[in-house]
Amino acid sequence: MKIFGENVFNDAVMRERLPKATYKSLHKTIELGLPLDPAVAEIVANAMKDWAIEKGATHFTHWFQPLTGITAEKHDSFISPTNHGLVTMEFSGKELIQGEPDASSFPSGGIRATFEARGYTAWDCTSPAFLKEDGGTLTLCIPTAFCSYTGEALDRKTPLLRSMEALSKQALRVLRLFGNTTTKRVISTVGPEQEYFLIDKKFFDKRMDLMLTGRTLFGAMAPKGQELEDHYFGSLKTRIAAFMHDLNVELWKLGVLAKTQHNEVAPAQFELAPIFETTNIATDHNQLVMDSLKKVALKHDMVCLLHEKPYAGINGSGKHNNWSMSTDDGQNLLEPGQAPHENFQFLTMICAVVKAVDDYAELLRVSAANPGNDHRLGANEAPPAIISIFLGDQLTDILEQLQNGKINRSLQGEKLVSGVKTLPAFQKDSTDRNRTSPFAFTGNKFEFRMVASSQSIAGPNVVLNLIVAEILSQFADRLEQAPNFDKALQELLKETATNHKRVLFDGNGYSQEWVEEAAKRGLPNITSTVDATLVLTRESTIDLYEKHKVLSRTELESRYEIDLEQYSKQINIEALTMINMAKNMIFPAAVNYATQLANSINAIKSASTAVDVSAQEELLKDVCSTLVSFKAKLSTLEKDTQAATTITDAYKQGVYYRDVVFTAMQTLRIDGDQLETMIDAELWPLPTYAQMLFLL
Ligand code: ADP
Ligand code: MG
Repeated sequence: MKIFGENVFNDAVMRERLPKATYKSLHKTIELGLPLDPAVAEIVANAMKDWAIEKGATHFTHWFQPLTGITAEKHDSFISPTNHGLVTMEFSGKELIQGEPDASSFPSGGIRATFEARGYTAWDCTSPAFLKEDGGTLTLCIPTAFCSYTGEALDRKTPLLRSMEALSKQALRVLRLFGNTTTKRVISTVGPEQEYFLIDKKFFDKRMDLMLTGRTLFGAMAPKGQELEDHYFGSLKTRIAAFMHDLNVELWKLGVLAKTQHNEVAPAQFELAPIFETTNIATDHNQLVMDSLKKVALKHDMVCLLHEKPYAGINGSGKHNNWSMSTDDGQNLLEPGQAPHENFQFLTMICAVVKAVDDYAELLRVSAANPGNDHRLGANEAPPAIISIFLGDQLTDILEQLQNGKINRSLQGEKLVSGVKTLPAFQKDSTDRNRTSPFAFTGNKFEFRMVASSQSIAGPNVVLNLIVAEILSQFADRLEQAPNFDKALQELLKETATNHKRVLFDGNGYSQEWVEEAAKRGLPNITSTVDATLVLTRESTIDLYEKHKVLSRTELESRYEIDLEQYSKQINIEALTMINMAKNMIFPAAVNYATQLANSINAIKSASTAVDVSAQEELLKDVCSTLVSFKAKLSTLEKDTQAATTITDAYKQGVYYRDVVFTAMQTLRIDGDQLETMIDAELWPLPTYAQMLFLL
């Protein structure tokens, strides 16, 4: 396909345009994670510039991922003045490698205030540079890490790269024990499935809540919801199909392999899955996917909603983070093969993941926490806030055999019989699906399903890489010392399978029984972002991150502060938006309608005393009494929101926003939605759920 990767300075382009020695040196850095030779950067910069200019680019930018969760850019022009009043197009190695954006407004959790105000961006040559089109301008985007003057990470990429190093180091130790002498590097791979909603722009533009907060703060349920599930895998409407076609072209140009796309369970909800890649690149690409979704939707007069819960009462959006480990020579370490019970390297990796997830469930939980996801996790929607693992029949059986110390079989999938002779009978997968599990083994990878739809996938993958690295290091420590490897391994696997079976669960993760059962098993159940953040600054967390050099104490403390601050800010914006809509839109609409009713009652009464106006009177009474209650709740929300801003302790403030302000918002919404169901549709100032969800 010609357009695929057209706008990417990828391996093929580099091979073609770089001198052999330079290409080789850069390739080594990329493939083996070796330090970058500065002389190489000068040559690469020049080649990159020529390529970009030939394609029509005039500007370049260091593209980075500050802790706001979105990407940031600072555009510079290639143009350099000469002393003859002319210009040349310049781009030096230094400009490629390092940038100094004026980035003092990005969150740093106090790091830069204490040390030094400057922030630096540094070229991440392991993720390919690309050209981005914005309003007719082509810009060369150079993926970079963002650090403070003193080297503290101020972004999401730096810890991700560090965690990949840590995983590679520890996994290699284990592979060597299994006699592997050739693998040079272990990389984690990720394929994130992205869910999103689309809404017609004309409705979006009338919803201040969607514009400012990403979700509807008011809105009565539509008469039809998702109960028929007729949207799921339904045929795509023409308008959506056209959008998806454009989206694919856009993504293919950027080198993103968007593969599958279909309708989701909720109306107006869709999903896109790319083909998996190295975690670092998959993370950059997911940012580009989110970016492109928004941009392309606008071209089709739609708006893409990435919020985790745009509509109350309708399934929200998430990301399924498919994760595995692979060697530089192409071996997927989570591939069971035909006889997994004989594949001890595979079983060791599986046991490591099981132990990691059980030991560090809370870290995984915090990695998926954001205010939007609070509406899903632990709030009666998929998946639960409790971390458990679904392994499927085959692996569950093997882990049981490991516990018994006798391992001699792998259950095989049965034939699927459809009952129709003309249909082929095929082998069922030996791992069935369990859609309610937050962490499921799906054939040759794990699928972490808690991740929030709007968040960067960097955080969750930092945790996955880090916790598995830690357990692999514990395994290696033990096995390297053992006089008899086979015996020590058997013991280790038996012990691990026995000690961590509590985290395995293949039942219905959405049920109340599971919540109770999980509590009995001692599994953590953290239901809110505010509580989840506490895990970040625990001594055991700091020890773990520092041991593997992924984040320092200072960096973790800064992230803790930023997470809490962003939570409070988000709820504050939601509360203020709600107050505004309540006062300036809903209240006046209700008053108008009440007046209309009153006028009608008076008019009818004066026309004839023989007419029964009790229906209108009753309605007028209901509207007015709801309005009284609405007004009282509005005052409470205003008072609570005001009070929240006076709390200085970040954690206490977060708790107050969650327990008091958020609760007041929910209470106010009940009356607002009640009014919507009473009032003349002509007078209602907001597009309804039925319009937003079903008119695409
Ligand atoms: P399903 O969810 O039906 O299994 P796929 O097999 O297409 O669908 O996988 C879903 C996602 O998992 C895709 O993005 C795919 O690229 C990704 N994936 C597949 N294999 C791996 C792997 N080894 N590592 C990481 N992600 C993977
Ligand atoms: Mg999936």
